[in-house]
Amino acid sequence: MHTAASPLMPIPGPIDTVPVPRAVTPREDGRIDLMGLSRPQIKSVLEEAGLDVKAAKLRSKQLFHWLYHRGETDFEAMTDLAKPMRGWMSERFVVGRPNVVEAQVSSDGTRKWLLRSDDGQDYEMVFIPDADRGTLCVSSQVGCTLNCSFCHTGTMRLVRNLTPGEIVGQVMLARDALGEWPKGSMVSANDDEDDDASHYTADGRLLTNIVMMGMGEPLYNFDHVRDALRVVMDGDGLALSRRRITLSTSGVIPMMARASEEIGVNLAVSLHAVTKEVRDELVPLNRKYGIDELLQACADYPKASNARRITFEYVMIRDKNDSDDDARELVRLLRKYKLPAKVNLIPFNPWPGTDYECSTPERIRRFSEIVFEGGISAPVRTPRGRDIMAACGQLKSASEKKSRAEMKRLAEEKQAALG
Ligand code: SAH
Ligand code: SF4
Repeated sequence: MHTAASPLMPIPGPIDTVPVPRAVTPREDGRIDLMGLSRPQIKSVLEEAGLDVKAAKLRSKQLFHWLYHRGETDFEAMTDLAKPMRGWMSERFVVGRPNVVEAQVSSDGTRKWLLRSDDGQDYEMVFIPDADRGTLCVSSQVGCTLNCSFCHTGTMRLVRNLTPGEIVGQVMLARDALGEWPKGSMVSANDDEDDDASHYTADGRLLTNIVMMGMGEPLYNFDHVRDALRVVMDGDGLALSRRRITLSTSGVIPMMARASEEIGVNLAVSLHAVTKEVRDELVPLNRKYGIDELLQACADYPKASNARRITFEYVMIRDKNDSDDDARELVRLLRKYKLPAKVNLIPFNPWPGTDYECSTPERIRRFSEIVFEGGISAPVRTPRGRDIMAACGQLKSASEKKSRAEMKRLAEEKQAALG
């Protein structure tokens, strides 16, 4: 079970949680990491380092392109910068990547990376290849404050927000690992409204979609997630269309309208239950923001002119939320709020220590049929990467286990000293 506090950092209460702010860890060598910075931010660090306004503007454009369109990390390779300028930059800046602790590949091709921040915190990202797309599952926090009872990440004690650099860094690292940076001459990129991903697939690119469904609640780290996704969507850089990005929330209602206005990506909502009693248990945030308010916020989410569908995630837990009545109530609720909805049925992925079990395949099929018959698409999501604990809700870093072992060792030493 989750404990309310750890010796390392107090964790906010299980319901009324607050975002955890964090300053960027300064590098020992004093250089500034440009990863995750927007063009205006790059411009201002260049000005602070001594360039005049005009030079800073030009260089920030060039750097932005090298960083995010070409994936370059070495200033010496930035051939349209004069040689002395490259040296000047190398002395003051770096282009970082998350540190990789471990990279695993599942028997089904899913890949998982355990990453470590400069201040020693672990988080994970997962890449899921499919026939027609490649989806990167990105983390927004180390751990999660929300303690959903069926989610492994929610049992982590240490929580902190990831910085924009750490969030964008995951996408950059995946691109590095997949060998997907354009080669040859610099080409100008498409604009971010372009929904055609052919330029990603035509040259063999694998990473076509991003889901903010890794560790953490993205709407509890709103500013950093927004800034990171804006960099990812920028047409001069990674240029991923907002239609290929999905943000998943457990239902942080006050931030949903801002997410629509300031980020504008697809929304997925982790519903998981149709009664107050069951949702209070599965998603404790429900005690603060109930089902009806949540569905109303969903109805308000897409811009008036935009008929994008919201995805409702529903984890199938045996004898908990998987009855025929639950399915019928789900249809009723989605109809009541006239939601352009799609339901994703996720078979519960077990993890060590959980008491929940996955619904039977027959039960999931029947549930799906009832929702379909109600006129709502309800595909069953095939679990991916279960063998490497990369499936939905299984992410939890190994470092916590290590620190526990460490704590046990320290306790034993103390005992020995006393005895
Ligand atoms: N915090 C956000 C995003 C990360 S969780 C959210 O909750 O939406 C991504 C998805 O994985 C959510 O739908 C979550 O409910 C689901 N999930 C968590 N634990 C799971 C488990 N053990 N089995 C299956 N899905 C799980
Ligand atoms: Fe956090 Fe999402 Fe897991 Fe709930 S399901 S504990 S909100 S990561």
